[in-house]
Amino acid sequence: MSSGALAPVFTEYIPSEPEEGVLYISMQFGTAVHLCACGCKAKVVTPFGPDDWILTFDGTVTLRPSVGNGQQQCRSHYYIRRNHIDWLPKMSPAATAAASARDRAAHTAAATAPDAVAPASWARRLWERLRR
Ligand SMILES: [Zn+2]
Repeated sequence: MSSGALAPVFTEYIPSEPEEGVLYISMQFGTAVHLCACGCKAKVVTPFGPDDWILTFDGTVTLRPSVGNGQQQCRSHYYIRRNHIDWLPKMSPAATAAASARDRAAHTAAATAPDAVAPASWARRLWERLRR
């Protein structure tokens, strides 16, 4: 573990080569980017939104939910709480799979309009009737 803190920097454009120990926050693009707190230099992108991350600013920044780098080799997992890194146990492969399934479900639910599923259930009802 390198540093235990992240300094928030509000910026319009996220630099292509972010510095370690800095949490870049772009309100224009609704996202934050930082280099993995473990020091592995993986770029971690945390978009804001009800199904993504919630950023709280009270002079310091807090990011919810936790940052789980299960896709990275380090598998590090931590909270960013009032500019500080609160370490959590490393992501297990199972936890990573569960987290990405949950993300997919949340995004699919948000992206799917109710009428988009109607034809499928209508077709299944018809199929059910034809089978009898
Ligand atoms: Zn890392």
